[in-house]
Amino acid sequence: MPAELSRPERDVLIVGAGLSGLVAARELRARGLSVALLEARTRVGGRMVSARTRDGSIVDLGGQWGGASHHRFAALVEELGLERFPSHYDGHGVFHWQGRRHEVPLAASFADSLLFFEPSALEFPADELAATRTLHAAFSELVASVNPQQPWLTPQADALDQLSVAAWAARHTSIPLARLPLDWLCRVGGSGGFEPWEASILHLAWTQAVAPQAESPEAWLVRGGAGSVAQALAAELQRQDPGCLQLGQAVLQIEQNPQGVTLLSGDGQCQRARLVIVAVPPPLRLAIRFEPPLPAAQRALLQRSPMGGMTKILATYARPFWRERGLNGLGIGDRPALELTADSGPPEGQPAVLASFVAGERALRLGALPAAERRRLILADLVAYWGPEAATPRDLVEQPWAEEPWSSGAFTSFLSPGSWSGPARLAAGESGGPGPADHGRVLWAGSEASPRWPGYFEGAIEAGLAAATRAAAVLAC
Ligand SMILES: Cc1cc2nc3c(=O)[nH]c(=O)nc-3n(C[C@H](O)[C@H](O)[C@H](O)COP(=O)(O)OP(=O)(O)OC[C@H]3O[C@@H](n4cnc5c(N)ncnc54)[C@H](O)[C@@H]3O)c2cc1C
Repeated sequence: MPAELSRPERDVLIVGAGLSGLVAARELRARGLSVALLEARTRVGGRMVSARTRDGSIVDLGGQWGGASHHRFAALVEELGLERFPSHYDGHGVFHWQGRRHEVPLAASFADSLLFFEPSALEFPADELAATRTLHAAFSELVASVNPQQPWLTPQADALDQLSVAAWAARHTSIPLARLPLDWLCRVGGSGGFEPWEASILHLAWTQAVAPQAESPEAWLVRGGAGSVAQALAAELQRQDPGCLQLGQAVLQIEQNPQGVTLLSGDGQCQRARLVIVAVPPPLRLAIRFEPPLPAAQRALLQRSPMGGMTKILATYARPFWRERGLNGLGIGDRPALELTADSGPPEGQPAVLASFVAGERALRLGALPAAERRRLILADLVAYWGPEAATPRDLVEQPWAEEPWSSGAFTSFLSPGSWSGPARLAAGESGGPGPADHGRVLWAGSEASPRWPGYFEGAIEAGLAAATRAAAVLAC
């Protein structure tokens, strides 16, 4: 590593200017510490990013919703002077299953629903609905038994961690409708992006123990786009310390000794600090060379923590025509491309936006097709859910997250079977779990490092604040 330093030394350097890194920087500055953020992209926000479509609508290419119990995120939005509005769920949704379209009211609670829908309104054979209830009850029981902090201490953890979600469900039922809710949680639930054969039932149950779909994580939206939160945080930091945000600075190497850390970034710049907070998605930690190296269990864990596959589709329309027909835009089903669509516009209906998600292997398959064929498939699914008017959006934007080198997928990372009871247990060390212990002067942040709502904005904030608190404590010694 070159000995010459290119910038003044700071108390803390932060790698990654996503929500978690930005929040950590804000917190450290509030505690009177000097800080700089090194961000690989030429923009801030990471997976929290808004864009303007050709028709002038602002849409979120990444995360968009806040949840009913996402108090930190709600407080941050308010502190930044931004506005929230409730997601539009008035009226019936559409459940598209085995070629048939059902307009159905939503259930009073997710726990009593078939994927948000009122089961009694779905005219399916009684034995299929009964099997769905039975599997749901068995899964809920399992979720209740999970040790959220140390999943490897869950009763029968080893066996549950070696069994994929698909294999566990197959032991209970062969009815596809009954298995759909678990498949859907894997692929498009907020902790998802993976196929039911790619992760263990212990992993899926853990996601629901720490980030429960039943707590309505898709309850509200930010006016002007969630991306404006990252922009506002960056603007605040820039006002306070114009040099603290360094864009286009991919960190390649982090070297530490008892005095501090030295970071080398892609353009050959070398910077020193007393500590570093790494706030990047877990698999991207592997692209950084640590000296001394990460313990073997941590590397093994990161190698078993891929990002999910996710493409987000934003379709904007002249009007929210579905609302005019008493429909709320919530579409779920087994269509070839879109497994979830949702009305993402404000109460007044402008911009009129349907956000849709293509997950797991469907996202990879879609991405391999020519643009015209992708558009045809996407519009066919939008029409299947919402009728012929859906065929003529003003704009149609595709955001394939797996193609973003500094994210490498979405929504979040997942653990492959066997990883909780193997490397995750060993890597936790002093952290007590569930995430790996800090590596000396290298502290971990990023949404996935949070014990609660990992993979969500709320988790990004919690992990950023926690890392800043640990950093301040170390520096006070
Ligand atoms: C399509 C999609 C939909 C989602 N929906 C929701 C939702 O509705 N609600 C919700 O709560 N969450 C949602 N999420 C998840 C949410 O966006 C993330 O959990 C959150 O934004 C993660 O923030 P972060 O700061 O931890 O990580 P990131 O946003 O990934 O930020 C990490 C940053 O580190 C940078 N970086 C990586 N490697 C390096 C390096 N070597 N050197 C320097 N910089 C580096 C990256 O460029 C990036 O800017 C969604 C995500 C996606 C993609």
